Amino acid sequence: MATDTHLWLSTALMAASGISIFLAGYVLLMRRACCSTPIALLLASSAVFGFGYALELGSDNLESMLRWIRFEFVAIPWVPYFWVLFAAGYAKGRSLGRVPSTLLALLPATGSAIALAGRVVPLVFAKAWVRSDGPFPVFGFEHGPWFFVNAAWTGLALLGGFAFLGVAALKAAPGLRKQARLVLVAALVPVAGYLAMLADLVPWGLDPTSFTLLPIGALFSLEYMRLRLSGLAPAAREAVFEAMDDAVIVLDGRGLLESANQAARRAFFLDDACAGRPLVEIMPERAELAALAEAGQGRLSFRVAGREGGGDGEGDAYWSVRALPATAPGGKAVGTVLVLSDVTEDERLLAKFRELASTDELTGVDNRRRFFENARHEALRASRKGTSLAAIIIDLDHFKAVNDRYGHAAGDAVLRESARRLAEGLRGSDFFCRWGGEEFAALLPDATLEGAISLAERLRATLELEPVQCLAGPVRVTASFGVAAGVPLSSSWLDQLLGLADEALYRAKEAGRNRVAAAAVEAAAPSAEGCGSVSEPSPEP
Ligand code: GH3
Ligand code: MG
Ligand code: MG
Repeated sequence: MATDTHLWLSTALMAASGISIFLAGYVLLMRRACCSTPIALLLASSAVFGFGYALELGSDNLESMLRWIRFEFVAIPWVPYFWVLFAAGYAKGRSLGRVPSTLLALLPATGSAIALAGRVVPLVFAKAWVRSDGPFPVFGFEHGPWFFVNAAWTGLALLGGFAFLGVAALKAAPGLRKQARLVLVAALVPVAGYLAMLADLVPWGLDPTSFTLLPIGALFSLEYMRLRLSGLAPAAREAVFEAMDDAVIVLDGRGLLESANQAARRAFFLDDACAGRPLVEIMPERAELAALAEAGQGRLSFRVAGREGGGDGEGDAYWSVRALPATAPGGKAVGTVLVLSDVTEDERLLAKFRELASTDELTGVDNRRRFFENARHEALRASRKGTSLAAIIIDLDHFKAVNDRYGHAAGDAVLRESARRLAEGLRGSDFFCRWGGEEFAALLPDATLEGAISLAERLRATLELEPVQCLAGPVRVTASFGVAAGVPLSSSWLDQLLGLADEALYRAKEAGRNRVAAAAVEAAAPSAEGCGSVSEPSPEP
C-alpha cells in the first residue's frame, strides 16, 4: 500500500511535469501576447520542480534525495518570479519593465546559485536526514537561513502576483472578466498548498506545492491560449492587416516603426531596413506625419506631388491620415497606428465637380455663381483697401435674329467665340462670366470708371471688328456695354454696382446698341440714377 502511494505520487508528478513542459513549449511557440514568455517559464520551472520532486520521492537514501533536492532548488525560486511576471503582464497588458524584472531576478538567481554550488545543505537546510515515520522514506530537515529568505520571497511574490490578478479581475473588459476571475480563484490553490506546507499541515513533511502548481499552470495556459493565443485570431488579423487597401503604419511607444502593411510598404517605399527607425528618418519630407504620430491621435491630409505615392502614377496623389493610439488590454497607450487612405480619386472627382459647378458648359468661362463668389471677395478687398472696383455687363445685340437667321448651332458658335474674345481682352486679375443667355459680365479690380469705359470700348471694337466664322457663314456680332465703378462702402454695394451697370446697359440699348454706357456709384449717397453717360454711338454698320 505504502509503495503504491509512493509510486502513484511520483508517476502523477512525472506526468504533470511532462505535460507542463509540452505546454510551455507550445505557449512559447505560439508567442503572441506579452505574458506568454513568463507563462511558459512558469510552467517550465514548475515542471523542473515537479520532476525533481517526483524523483526525490522515489529515492530511498539521503544521497539520492539530496541530489534531486539540489536539482529542484535550481528551479524552485524561479516559480514565484515567473508567477509575478505573468500576473503583472496579465494585469498591465504588457511585460513588467526591464529594470524591475532584472532587480526581482536577483533573488531567484542567488537561490539557483546556492543549489548549483551544492550548498543546499547547510544554507537552505541546516540538517538533513531520511524520515522513516511515514509510509515511505521522506526527506527530513531542519531549516537553514536561506530557507527563510526563500520562504519570505515566495510569500511576497505570491501575494504581489495575487494583487496584480485582483486588479486585472477588477479592470477586465467584459469579454475577459470571466477569465480574469477564474485565474484569480485558481491562483488561490497553489497559494493554499504553499501555506499548508509552511504550516506543516501535510503529513510526513510532504510538499504539496508542486502538485498544485502543475495543474493550475496547465489551466492558466490553456485558458490563456483559448482567449488570447488562439492561433486563428492573430492569423486572421494579420491577413486583414496585409490585405487592407488603406496603408497602415504601426509605431511603438518610442515612435519607431514597428510594422507596415503591404499597401504602406508599396506606397511609401518602406522596406525591412525601415523597421525600428523613427518616422522622421523614414519619411523626412513628411514632417507633419511624424508630428501627428507623436500627438498620438488626430487627422490630417497631405498631397504627394508628381509621380511618387499612390494614385495611378499620374499627377498628384492625395492622402488622408488618421492617427489612433494603440492601447494594451489595460487601456494604456503602447504605440500609435497611422491609417493612410489614398483619396486621390475622391479629390479628382471633387475637383471635377467643383469645376462643373462653377463653369458655363457652352462657353467654358465661369458661371454666374463663381463670378459672385469672386465678386464678393473682391468687393471686401476693395472696401478694406479703399480702391475702386468696376463692373461691365455685356449683352449681344439682336442675338435672337442670329439664331433665327443662321440657326441655333451658329448662335452657340457666336456665343463661344464672343466669350473667347471678351475674356481674352481682359487682364489676368479681372473676372469674367456668362451672366446668362447672350449676356456676359466682367469685374475689374482696381479699375476707375474711366479705365473701365475705355476697356469696354476696346472689347466692343474687338467684337465688331471681325465677323464670327460659322458653318453657316460669317456672322456679324456686336454688343452693348453697361459700365459702373466706385469704391465699395456697404455690404449691399456690390448689388448696387451691378444694378447700375445693368441700367447703363439698358441705356446703351436704348441709345441704339453697339455702344458703351456708364454710371458711377455715388460715394456718399448711392442713387439708382447714378450719373449716367452714354458714349458716342459708333456709326451703325
Ligand atoms: P437685344 O439686342 O435687345 O439684346 O436683342 P436680343 O435678340 O439679343 O435679345 P432677346 O432677349 O430678345 O433674345 C436673346 C436671345 O438669345 C434669345 C435666345 O434664344 C438666345 N439665346 C439665349 N441663350 C442662348 C444659347 O445658349 N444659345 C443660343 N444659340 N441662343 C441663345
Ligand atoms: Mg439679353
Ligand atoms: Mg441681346
